[in-house]
Amino acid sequence: MDRTLLGKIKIWGTLECKTGLHIGASKENMEIGAIDSPVVRDPVTREPYIPGSSLKGKMRSLLEKALKISDRRDIGTNRNPVKIHVCDDAEKASKCNLCRIFGSTGKDGGKNFPARLIVRDLYLTEQSAEELSGIDTGLQYTEWKFENAIDRVTAAANPRQIERVPKGALFQFELIYNVEDKSNIVEDLKNIKLGIELLKLDALGGHGSRGYGKVDIKFDSIEPIPVDYFKDMVHKKIVEFKSLDDIDEIATVFE
Ligand SMILES: [Zn+2]
Repeated sequence: MDRTLLGKIKIWGTLECKTGLHIGASKENMEIGAIDSPVVRDPVTREPYIPGSSLKGKMRSLLEKALKISDRRDIGTNRNPVKIHVCDDAEKASKCNLCRIFGSTGKDGGKNFPARLIVRDLYLTEQSAEELSGIDTGLQYTEWKFENAIDRVTAAANPRQIERVPKGALFQFELIYNVEDKSNIVEDLKNIKLGIELLKLDALGGHGSRGYGKVDIKFDSIEPIPVDYFKDMVHKKIVEFKSLDDIDEIATVFE
């Protein structure tokens, strides 16, 4: 199957934590006596960040439900089954509203369909990093919250500390949508927008049912960039949009 690149649509803005956010890191390389459930951090700066894969996975699962796609495949293991919708081959994926955006891995000889949407890792804004570096919680940039689970029969308690990025933290947010087929732009962008709107009413990261992970996302700029812009050195002006409400106009840039 031929895939051509007609251009890119760059969508960026900020993600604000409206409640504490916990995206867990593995405990393997934590020292003894450390917090029970640490957040994921950049290994160099030690700042907490949101992996693009976490945001993308959440948008995908919310959209899968909203688009009522029921054909699901187990991509997990025997002990930990994970059922999600993934098209078996690239031809099918190119016609699927979900796999076209998020990609699919082939099965039984079917080809993979690489995702059209790239979700970058989200880092703290400069201002937020500066503010959080000054908070005095004993942890770098974060706070910890004490959670207690109680067995209702034996009344045994299982207290643990969960680390979280505090409410009010701001992260840079960037999505890149690869334009491969003009006829899909409007529908794909509508679904990306829907995924973002659903996320705002859901939760990112762990412990969402206990109030963690409420986020707001604001767009600063949406830039449709036809591939010609990169090819000829004549710098045409990039048209900038402020909202994903202008989807039809954004799509006309590629005509
Ligand atoms: Zn699919």
